[in-house]
Amino acid sequence: MARIALECLNCGHRASLTEDDLPAYGLEPGTSLVTLTKRTVCRQCGSRVVVAYREEDGTAANRSLVQERSNSNRR
Ligand SMILES: [Zn+2]
Repeated sequence: MARIALECLNCGHRASLTEDDLPAYGLEPGTSLVTLTKRTVCRQCGSRVVVAYREEDGTAANRSLVQERSNSNRR
């Protein structure tokens, strides 16, 4: 089961969930990460500036996707 990591860019709060957890957040299974980030609000500070990325085998191998999304490190 792929895990999805969430990180608040405002306060740094992190959480992770699995695809199975999506319905508990009112989201359809298979919801895209883009939709997920738009729907997610940080439970700690209330910020909507949250990024999501998939974790595979417990690593943050896809972390670079965060930079692509924010478009802050173009090459
Ligand atoms: Zn936060």
